[in-house]
This record gives sequence, structure tokens and C-alpha cells, in this order.
Amino acid sequence: MGNLITPFGHFVDLFFPRICLVCGEKLYQQEEILCSKCLYDLPRTNFHLEPKNQLEMMFWGRFPVEKATALLYFKKGSGYRKLIHQLKYKGKPEIGIFMGRLLAEDLSDWATGIDYIVPVPLHPKKKKIRGYNQSEIIANGLSEILEIPVDNQTLIRSTFTQTQTRKARYERWENVKSVFAVSNSQTFQGKHILLVDDVITTGATLEGSVQALLDIRELKISIAAIGIASN
Ligand SMILES: [Zn+2]
Repeated sequence: MGNLITPFGHFVDLFFPRICLVCGEKLYQQEEILCSKCLYDLPRTNFHLEPKNQLEMMFWGRFPVEKATALLYFKKGSGYRKLIHQLKYKGKPEIGIFMGRLLAEDLSDWATGIDYIVPVPLHPKKKKIRGYNQSEIIANGLSEILEIPVDNQTLIRSTFTQTQTRKARYERWENVKSVFAVSNSQTFQGKHILLVDDVITTGATLEGSVQALLDIRELKISIAAIGIASN
């Protein structure tokens, strides 16, 4: 007789077959999110092994960054983009934990000296709709492996809504302005933080976050993301 977990696992598989999110092949029991082939073929950047990499150079002249890395290249049309799409729009936070852990596995040396993992805050309305902040989920996956705490209280997104009584409901929604702010700057004084985003395209969101942090004394900022968009 096997244990009780195994037959239950098969039972669940029968009605809800688990498939690889990238290629659609059925997953073996020990596989999670990705099949072994897609896991092996991940388009890794290996930026953590390359100082002055493409991502660090993206921020030069814009704001000071200690170091920056991303797990994957997200090329146009790449099947791996489905991972982020499912994480953001299909209510699958487990993908964020999985990807965060995967990223962290490469970063044990790279992350030495980092005090806090700080997810880029999501607009509160988006968080309400989605149920979670995907960057925070990725941060939790990183934190588990790196054993560095997540701080999601200090860097915040504040929302200011102008009174626009004559605007239609939809237009009012569009006019909600949001900016990043710091709730308690002492927390990060003299610290090194790892700012975490899901996918970096232009770096504008990160730039907005960093702007809010620039006044903090002796703060060092590094950056990690799951993907960097590329052509
Ligand atoms: Zn696959």
C-alpha cells in the first residue's frame, strides 16, 4: 500500500490535470509549474554573474543602483511570458513564489549584505482587484530561500483623488493619481535594500519607487526582477 497522499494526488490529477504553463504538456508528479524540459530551457540572463550588465546599464544616469539582476529574458512571443501573464491576470500567486525561489537559488552570494527585500507597491485598486501584489509574492519566494525579511510597510503607494464631480465614473477612475512615498524613512537609514519588480520594461516604475527613497541617508538600493523585456 502507498501512503494516503499519493492516491489523492492521482485523484486530483484525473479531474484537474496539471500541465506545464509554458508548453502545455502534462506534468509528472514531482514537477511544479514547469515541465523539466521548459525548466531546463529557461532563457536565463545570468546577470548576477555579470557586473555592469544590461540591466544595471539601463539605470545609469537615472538613479544610483548597487547592482541589478533579472532571472529571465522575456522575448516577444516567448512562451515564458505566459508565466507572468498567469501570475498577474489569472489569479495564480503560486507562480510568483515558484519564480521567486528560482531566482533566489542563484543569488546566495550576490545578495550578501542585503537587509530587506522590498516589493514595488501595487496601486491599491489593482491590488484589491487582483487580490495580491505579484511583486510581493515574488519577494516572499526570494525571502524564503535567502532568509532576508520582506518589508512591505516602508515604501508605499499613496493615492490622491481629485474631486471631479462632473466626470463620468470611468473617467474618474482613470484620473486617480498615484505616487510612491516612504512611511518611515528611519527604517531604511544605512541599510541595503533589494527592490523587487515582476518584469522590467523601461524601468519607469522602479524609477518612481527610487525617487521616493532618494532622501534616505546612506541607503543602498539593488534591484531584482523575474524578467527583463527584450526584442
Ligand atoms: Zn513544458
